Amino acid sequence: MSKIEELEKIKKDMEADKNLPLVSKPEDVIPGDGNPDAKIVFIGEAGGYHESIQRKPFVGQAGKLLDKMFSEIGIKREEVYISNMVKTRPPENRDPTPEELSAFGKYLDRELEVIQPKVIVTLGRFSMGKFLPFAKISSVHGKVERVKWKDRELVIVPMYHPAAALRNGNVMSQFREDFLKLPEILNEIAKPEIKQMNLL
Ligand code: URA
Repeated sequence: MSKIEELEKIKKDMEADKNLPLVSKPEDVIPGDGNPDAKIVFIGEAGGYHESIQRKPFVGQAGKLLDKMFSEIGIKREEVYISNMVKTRPPENRDPTPEELSAFGKYLDRELEVIQPKVIVTLGRFSMGKFLPFAKISSVHGKVERVKWKDRELVIVPMYHPAAALRNGNVMSQFREDFLKLPEILNEIAKPEIKQMNLL
């Protein structure tokens, strides 16, 4: 199966999963979206109103801020992959519950297995908590954190949630500063591979 087919299968499996909370019909699912070969995956919290209508992550105000940041660092949205911890819209946009995070978790894991990104940017405390359960976002945001996950090392860059940045000017400055570090972080991470290639 190609990566595109595998991601499509994940979407179909979610749509058919009768045990998924908050999903009463297939259209309630908001699947991950973007490039199956992405070097960076961004993980948010859950969909909101606009995401539930378009069935696409980060297409409302928070998504517009992400798009602006992509253009500031010279990458296209189509180059990255964007997903959420909870791939549907919780009522009144409330925080996801532990049960919801856990029920959707296996599908996010499958997306990451297919894409195998070089860097995972967590947006907000819920996605940070998946990889860095004891971290405080105020201390780790914008830093490169290497974690062991399923026998692999993942590079996690925790960031504030763009919706939090839209609500608070200080958070916005930090969010922007962290985002602007991404090209250099990607370059640094690509280096060992270049060294290895030279040795061959
Ligand atoms: N906030 C999120 O965490 N995800 C979205 O898709 C939209 C807003």
